[in-house]
Amino acid sequence: MKRIVILGAAESGAGAAVLAKLKGFDVFVSDMSEIKANYKKQLDEYDIPWEECHHTLDLILNADEVIKSPGIPDKAPVIQKLKAQNTPIISEIEFAGRYTDAKMICITGSNGKTTTTSLIYHILKNAGYNVGLAGNIGSSLALQVATKQFDYYVIELSSFQLDNMYEFKADIAILMNITPDHLDRYDFKMQNYVDAKMRITQNQTEDDAFVFWNDDPIVREELKKYNLKARLFPFSEFKGNAAIAYAEKGQYVIECPTPFNMEQDALALRGKHNLYNSLAAGITAHLAGISDEALRKGLSSFAGVEHRLEKAGTVRGVEFINDSKATNVNACWYALESMTRPTVLILGGKDKGNDYTEIYDLVREKCIGLVFLGVDNRKLHENFDSFGLPIADVQSMKDCVDECYKMAKPGCTVLLSPCCASFDLFKNMEDRGEQFKNCVKNL
Ligand code: ADP
Repeated sequence: MKRIVILGAAESGAGAAVLAKLKGFDVFVSDMSEIKANYKKQLDEYDIPWEECHHTLDLILNADEVIKSPGIPDKAPVIQKLKAQNTPIISEIEFAGRYTDAKMICITGSNGKTTTTSLIYHILKNAGYNVGLAGNIGSSLALQVATKQFDYYVIELSSFQLDNMYEFKADIAILMNITPDHLDRYDFKMQNYVDAKMRITQNQTEDDAFVFWNDDPIVREELKKYNLKARLFPFSEFKGNAAIAYAEKGQYVIECPTPFNMEQDALALRGKHNLYNSLAAGITAHLAGISDEALRKGLSSFAGVEHRLEKAGTVRGVEFINDSKATNVNACWYALESMTRPTVLILGGKDKGNDYTEIYDLVREKCIGLVFLGVDNRKLHENFDSFGLPIADVQSMKDCVDECYKMAKPGCTVLLSPCCASFDLFKNMEDRGEQFKNCVKNL
């Protein structure tokens, strides 16, 4: 019996274990950290052996194939050992893809993945499609393939997931953008990260579709290197440059696969970045054969995603916006770009090799104060002290919101769009966003 070892027992690992077990493999799960109770229960229910807080090499190195959690870096000693002996290492998505004939709609990019994935799912689901949502969102693809039967999957893919995908093919691949992120995991070489993102197009044939943001200089440069067979659907902010979808004179326009337009004001999502997300979603929904009426309804009724430019309340004329998910500089750029009122900006956290020069102009134009929320704020001071803005250093969300409230006047906005990961002071970006919202409530 072929032996499959799964490294990392969170959502993707536990799901992959269940699918592998149901497909008749000899399965073993190993996690260097403690496994959450719900995943232990799931593994026990399917009688799958597991270990936590260590890796027993004897039980791992004898695998025929390894499914690796996207969170485990290649530098981890166990991965190095597996690579040295040429054991195939794949991702959960690659594995699950072998066992379903459903149409795969896959979304990647540095920013906008979750929003676009959720929006496409919302449009298709509301149009009555038998569709599952997977990847970084909700329940794992593997568990759904093991226990459900969908005609379509809408899958959010990170570069880490794409790293270990080889045979998998997206029927519709969507690339939102490529800007520097996670460089710590790519030897600080941008090209390595770019190559990972471009894997979204691998194995595509002339029957497949590739939807991409045509204004992105990196994507345009990369495409010159590839001889893609898939049908191309470039979208853009403006008409021209071969774009088949764009905004023009207040209209949201798609030229093909079938012509469609609607008032831009009727789109549920606001801001330039969300126009891109709505264009990508609209093209994709059309490719899936949706009616114009259902598309219009879907694009105008989407409620948005938590922690992405989410309204967190207004207190005495000061508006608070939770964009905790902005964990890189580019996401913050788009958040600032969409601000229409004087803004107090909260920056800081775990820096992933950030280059803040990208937001210099917008900080000068839109900000009236800065609050640095991090254990180590030195890099932020080096970048922004010379701007002459009031600056406060804080190490808890309560102090942060209090300082922002002191700086902001009625008519101002306080924006949490920190450019950084949250792990220095918070459990994760959701925890950071929740604490922000709670502190605003308690003002
Ligand atoms: P991801 O899943 O790729 O991290 P999200 O949809 O969660 O993307 O959004 C992450 C952050 O990026 C949010 O702060 C959001 O405001 C911003 N954002 C969303 N869509 C885009 C886009 N198309 N381009 C740039 N930034 C975006």
